[in-house]
Amino acid sequence: MAHAHSTRIQEFIGDPVSDSPAVGREQLEEIFQDIQKDIRFDHELNGCLNCGICTATCPAAHYYDFSPREIVQLLWTENLEGIYDAMQEKIWACAQCYTCAARCPFDNSPGGLVMLMREAAIKHGMESAKNVLRPFSRVMLKLISTGNQLSPDMINADGFPDWGPNISKVDAPLKILRKAIPMPTLNTTETAWEVNLTTSVELYTIWEETGVLDQLETIDENLYDVILDIMDEKREDLEDWEEEQADEDDD
Ligand code: SF4
Ligand code: SF4
Repeated sequence: MAHAHSTRIQEFIGDPVSDSPAVGREQLEEIFQDIQKDIRFDHELNGCLNCGICTATCPAAHYYDFSPREIVQLLWTENLEGIYDAMQEKIWACAQCYTCAARCPFDNSPGGLVMLMREAAIKHGMESAKNVLRPFSRVMLKLISTGNQLSPDMINADGFPDWGPNISKVDAPLKILRKAIPMPTLNTTETAWEVNLTTSVELYTIWEETGVLDQLETIDENLYDVILDIMDEKREDLEDWEEEQADEDDD
């Protein structure tokens, strides 16, 4: 399905109050093109009846000012200002449960389209993306530097003050409990499981080649610098280890 020269593009109407655009037309088009040119776009959007089945079954729509039907309509009609506006806040309400995708008679995936919009928001360094991701900087640090998700030692009152007093219920002798788990890779509390050095360095290459690190730099420059330092150290560790192995083989 070709969208680039579609006739569905709506006229630019500007801000109804100030009569001026929130951002320039060029940037609006660039953001939309980034969403549209993604290989997943045509798979996730096949048309829209505006029937509202997706919104009726969407859990996020029950609690927030958010409607997957509206998101799909904005993309389908190529309402560039509306898309930009939704990216300021609404798209972050989606729980990515994909109930909408299971229900849509057009086989659309509103949740998948939301994901594309989120990725574009990150790529363009939108404030909404920075605000949403800021509280997760510890998790991103862990994820990117170790290839792990949330680790047991992160689940504490300092790490998650927003969890309130119930966090104390997680206060447990984690080191002992973890040692009781049969798999050796799980006998650690610093990471969810142990990832060997070679795999970690391979993951860094993936983060680099796929543009994940570029996106991180756009969103959080300090975190990006910290992660780069960790990557350099681990790469040196791997080189040292490989040299040691080579020496041992020579002996
Ligand atoms: S995305 Fe699908 S379910 Fe939602 S309004 Fe459009 S056609 Fe209906
Ligand atoms: S994936 Fe998002 S939009 Fe779709 S039903 Fe779940 S919360 Fe709603």
